[in-house]
Amino acid sequence: MCGIVGYIGFRSAADVIVEGLQKLEYRGYDSFGVATSNPHLAVYKCEGKISEKFEKARELHGSIGVGHTRWATHGVPSDRNAHPHLDCTGRIAVVHNGIIENYSALTRELKERGHTFLSETDTEVVAHLIEEAYDGDLRAAVAQAITHLKGSYALLVTAEGHEEIVAARDSSPLVLGIGDQELFAASDVTPLIGYTERVVYLDDGDLATLDREGWHVYHHGTPVKRAIEHVDWDVETVRKGGFPHYMLKEIFEQPKVFYDTFHGITPESLPERYRRPSEITVVACGSSYHAGLVFKYLCESTCRIPVRAELGSEFKYFTPPLKGIVMVITQSGETADTLAALKKAKAYNCPTLAITNVLGSTVTRIADHTLYMRAGPEISVAATKSFVAQLAVLMQLVNLMSPKSGLSGSLERANSAIDEVLLQDIGRAVEICRPAEHLFYVGRGLFYPIALEGALKMKEISYIHAEGYAAGELKHGPFALLSEETPVVALCSPGDTYSIMLSNIKEMKARKAPIIGIGARGDRELIDIVDVFLPIPESHELVQLIATSVLLQQLAYQTAVALGRDVDQPRNLAKSVTVE
Ligand code: GLU
Repeated sequence: MCGIVGYIGFRSAADVIVEGLQKLEYRGYDSFGVATSNPHLAVYKCEGKISEKFEKARELHGSIGVGHTRWATHGVPSDRNAHPHLDCTGRIAVVHNGIIENYSALTRELKERGHTFLSETDTEVVAHLIEEAYDGDLRAAVAQAITHLKGSYALLVTAEGHEEIVAARDSSPLVLGIGDQELFAASDVTPLIGYTERVVYLDDGDLATLDREGWHVYHHGTPVKRAIEHVDWDVETVRKGGFPHYMLKEIFEQPKVFYDTFHGITPESLPERYRRPSEITVVACGSSYHAGLVFKYLCESTCRIPVRAELGSEFKYFTPPLKGIVMVITQSGETADTLAALKKAKAYNCPTLAITNVLGSTVTRIADHTLYMRAGPEISVAATKSFVAQLAVLMQLVNLMSPKSGLSGSLERANSAIDEVLLQDIGRAVEICRPAEHLFYVGRGLFYPIALEGALKMKEISYIHAEGYAAGELKHGPFALLSEETPVVALCSPGDTYSIMLSNIKEMKARKAPIIGIGARGDRELIDIVDVFLPIPESHELVQLIATSVLLQQLAYQTAVALGRDVDQPRNLAKSVTVE
């Protein structure tokens, strides 16, 4: 995920682009760059945040240009990997949001044909493909180049000697701004605000040209008409994609995040030495620890490899007999306790594997090998899409360690299951949680870590005291607390733990606790004994687990909103915990 901006008009392109990129920084902020043509191409790009280092970029002259603020997916954040990327002649500049999935093969072929690459990004292939196809017609060259691409892209291209920007999109957002004697292109409408309210949303497969005469859109080569729409949103509303909070936006991004992450981990992602370790020690904090617990249950039963899951903050206080590999999970790649654990593992000479969302983060520089989530920047403090992305990586990892498990096929439906639960009305469940001072979340087996995560979400953003428990443990103490004032969220999906969960629910009902039951759609037996029933699609156990996680995020979110909490920035909490 990143932000891109293009401008052609009568103003300083660099000024418009720099200002626009600052508004898009929520989409990515590890490096940035601008190219203008005046009429020669001039480029400035560097590592860091545009809001802190924009001065030099603003010095570029010209009234045509493209710019980029990056969230690296391929190649660490650095000056060289920052966009725009140029062809061998240095006359064609490309900015890109998305992932070119077949870039390795394309890079190899282009190198064989004599092209020189200056970066490690997937994007640079696009500049060289355009160079090969270019015979004076920039639009035709871009149209030809994109026929080679697999993956997702929003592209803006400008070239020396052309008073033109060519834009193309497939599975990444791109919008045009239609001003008076000036045209814009951007990842969303925030950079356009203040200049124009007339916008054109491009569709997948569209290619557009913006020049001094006007704008044209082609769909797979055929000229098409696209309607001009009127927007009068403010910047913050647009950044949140029309959602009232980043958290809700991020919750709704999860079908795509799961799909992208799951498919982003391929057999090539995992070197042989990590495939059959004698043991695995997982170290993580918070939500990442809960994802690690899911992995423990799943990996032990599927791959028959012993797995221990440890809290990062505790790991330094004991010296475990470390064998096999050590795997750390951290969304930001900067979690201090997790990094300390990783260093300790290295001191024991264990092969180390990191799972993170941030390319180039500290964890990626210390671990021997890294697997990436593809969640994009998560702004809200409470982890949502990064948790689901962790599950996607970990499930794919189990699949790679035990290819015969058939896990991959079973998870194909996961994104549509997430879509389904996102649309559910959970108002009655929120009414039960809202006045409560204490809540219990209970589950068994794979659903136990999901109960922990559901309770954590509720605590973080609603400030209601919520406890996640293995359902069988309630009787060993917490039963004393059950009353009509302590609602219980019970995770009761079909599977090995179903009947015993039903019995547990009846026992809790007997203590008058109101029960919110989550189970398979149409489960009459469960519906009859709980106070509120929240259905999830009947599906593979892991798909149900993912759907349940999303439903619990929604329950926490809506309860926090009902209580008037500051959802995106809950009190006392920070997004990245960089102190021990
Ligand atoms: N895949 C490209 C890169 O890593 C673009 C990433 C983005 O969308 O920011 O440079």
